[in-house]
Amino acid sequence: MTASRTAREKRAAAQAGPLARVKIDLDDDQQFVYKISCTECTAKGHRAWSTHRSGDDNGFMAATDRWIFHLREKHPDVDAPCLAFLPEARERLQQRRDAGPRTGPDPK
Ligand SMILES: [Zn+2]
Repeated sequence: MTASRTAREKRAAAQAGPLARVKIDLDDDQQFVYKISCTECTAKGHRAWSTHRSGDDNGFMAATDRWIFHLREKHPDVDAPCLAFLPEARERLQQRRDAGPRTGPDPK
């Protein structure tokens, strides 16, 4: 459990790019809780930006999607590997708006 959590954390941090601080905790139900915060927004004394989502891959995707949108909106000149998923993130956002909360596809 711990090893896989650390591995996920590393993978997520690598994808999220240099501005993100990624943390994965366990909630009371032993579910993963993904937390992404923005080091730049925190450092500049703006309201710190962060998101957290619980759940397995769905939680991971939801947190990453929110992070992608934050990067595009606030740091358009910053590059990060996760920005490659921007079209998919937009699609998922649209799907969530259309269909409401539901289980997403397995991200492979
Ligand atoms: Zn930011």
